[in-house]
Amino acid sequence: MLGITRRLLRRARSLLPVHGYYFDRPLFLLQSDDWGRVGLRDQEGLRQLHNEGLQLGERPYDFYTLETAQDLTTLSQLLKRHRDANGRPACIGMNFILANLDFARMASQNSEQIYLRALPDGLPVGWQRPGLFEAYREGINAGVFYPALHGQTHFCCQAVERELKLQSERGTKIKTLWKAGTPYIHWRMAWIGYEYWDPESQDSDCFLSAEQQEAAIGAAVGNFARMFSTLPRSACAPGYRADETTHKTWAHFGIRVAQNGPDPSLPPHLDRFGVLHLHRTLDFEPALDEKLLIGTCLDAIARNFQQGLPAIVSVHAINFHSTVKDFRTKTLVLLDELLSAVEAKFPNLLYLHDSDLYDLTQSGSYSQDSKAIVVGVTRRAFRLDAHANR
Ligand SMILES: [Zn+2]
Repeated sequence: MLGITRRLLRRARSLLPVHGYYFDRPLFLLQSDDWGRVGLRDQEGLRQLHNEGLQLGERPYDFYTLETAQDLTTLSQLLKRHRDANGRPACIGMNFILANLDFARMASQNSEQIYLRALPDGLPVGWQRPGLFEAYREGINAGVFYPALHGQTHFCCQAVERELKLQSERGTKIKTLWKAGTPYIHWRMAWIGYEYWDPESQDSDCFLSAEQQEAAIGAAVGNFARMFSTLPRSACAPGYRADETTHKTWAHFGIRVAQNGPDPSLPPHLDRFGVLHLHRTLDFEPALDEKLLIGTCLDAIARNFQQGLPAIVSVHAINFHSTVKDFRTKTLVLLDELLSAVEAKFPNLLYLHDSDLYDLTQSGSYSQDSKAIVVGVTRRAFRLDAHANR
């Protein structure tokens, strides 16, 4: 019954006009998920899982690992070389996972329950990444990395704990990964869902309760503050699985921007909690897409600029990883090419991050080196349901 009321309310709200924001300058943003989240523990983890009978390599995400200081330094150097019309460097919005599994503690208790190690306390035992945290901070201080919130675990804890309790085959499989210092490989076990979304939940929409979401988001915000000495202003839900409860809770914790998956023609707009929704323009994922063409990306970006919309390019952290498989080299070459092409084609280009875009919608300007940069902003009403049916 509650589910039906909620659906009707959502439908009624989608009929109300919302205000979309349009800009008189080409605005370019990079949004990137999954930073700080460990995956396959390098060559050693690969060997260990191989010995357990797991053949990895079928898909690129089998080789998702964790960035190194060198991965970050090379990315930072590239971004610093690219400048917008005001001389500001390109910036990548990095969405962080703020905790990893505490494999050692779980092993000592027979892995019957989940224990987390907060990212600011370091990586799980067995993981080595010298200089990584300093590299995050160097990029942030240089203005080329912009940290934002992805979540606390990425996967749905409720789903995993259910399987552990059942002592199911799924539970056994995930424990094999844990022994090798790997939390999960999503495509091989989609039942683990996403942080706020349990695919096999009894609830009709599969989202966690308000209490569960508040606990997870509150913990992640606390760890973010310890990690970066600031509060997050932008967030992207793992797997883009967020509902109104997620948005309301984000707003409660001071988040002003919600990042959403690709929907290029949907303009930035505010929800009823005062959160600005951004929809990504295109996926730029050289690690996943062998046939990625710069020309096609450029066309999508130009289309958005023509309509007064920002170009928001999605590029996940895996593209910059290098220790199991070198995804980084190709990505940096292509990203360099893309940014050069955009700068050449749109000389009055501006490189922004999510918080700048929010400031623009609120005041018509954002700050660069304590100077206000003014951009023409217009508001036009549209209906979300009309957009969905277009
Ligand atoms: Zn993610």
